[in-house]
Amino acid sequence: MSNPYENLAIGVLALQGAFREHALALEKLGAQARKIRRRRELAGLDALVIPGGESMTIGKLMVSYHLLDEIKGLGAEGLPMLGTCAGLVMLAREVVDGDQPLLGLMDIKVRRNAFGRQVKSFEAALEIPALGVDAPEDTAAPFPGIFIRAPWIESGGPGVDILAEYDGHGIAARQKKMLVTAFHPELTDDLRMHELFLRMVV
Ligand code: GLN
Repeated sequence: MSNPYENLAIGVLALQGAFREHALALEKLGAQARKIRRRRELAGLDALVIPGGESMTIGKLMVSYHLLDEIKGLGAEGLPMLGTCAGLVMLAREVVDGDQPLLGLMDIKVRRNAFGRQVKSFEAALEIPALGVDAPEDTAAPFPGIFIRAPWIESGGPGVDILAEYDGHGIAARQKKMLVTAFHPELTDDLRMHELFLRMVV
């Protein structure tokens, strides 16, 4: 059987942050990963990943590389996007108490560094029912969530599905072809979150 993802060209925004790990995860699943730094490299993509890092920095670099409006436009046209951690922040419509360049493609309001300064990073086993949809007997093993100065989703509009919560706060969500996680699936060996995304793309 041929790999369902082998013809997909997935861009990974490579301005700052954990982009190499995303590219590796996508390649392990059989898709082609393309690192994106310039506007012209956005042509012909089937989807785009916005990695974790520092959203203020990523946003400012997107502006100076003339990528922000271009990516906003592609998202508005329906290009699927996966945003992790700082990437979740970038895709949000609004940041609580914040003023920074955003793509605003998802109807979510997010809080940066939401788990507090003391708790810079932690791991948690997450229940994510959406991962079980294609799994045998409809069961999904917990997903290893790695949180690093993570945001949470404060609220979401009617079109937003919250896919997982931790401590009562939204930490993964989907809206149409947009998928976001507050944690870092690319820093684990568990490919199920990337595969969920690729299934949204094909
Ligand atoms: N705290 C960062 C931000 O708000 C996100 C951290 C991360 O991506 N690991 O941009």
